[in-house]
Amino acid sequence: MEKYHNVMETLVEDKLNEIWNALDCCKCEKCRNDIIACTLNQMEPKYAVTNEGELYVRLCELSAEHEFEIVKAIAKSVRMVSEHPKHYI
Ligand SMILES: [Zn+2]
Repeated sequence: MEKYHNVMETLVEDKLNEIWNALDCCKCEKCRNDIIACTLNQMEPKYAVTNEGELYVRLCELSAEHEFEIVKAIAKSVRMVSEHPKHYI
């Protein structure tokens, strides 16, 4: 069972899901994972101890706090991955 979790992972994935259809990029799984990894590399990790509802409360707070930063990082990652797609490997 997972004891610690980088909540940034969840925030970035949630945000990406939200805007995924509006993004002008390749929608294959490889590119999606690249975009997520690339975005996370630009963000400070935020670790939280996973227990019950507490993590969810933190997620809501952090989501509001970092929304702009996350969207900006996703946009940058989409550009980078689109310029150098790895999906043909
Ligand atoms: Zn692709």
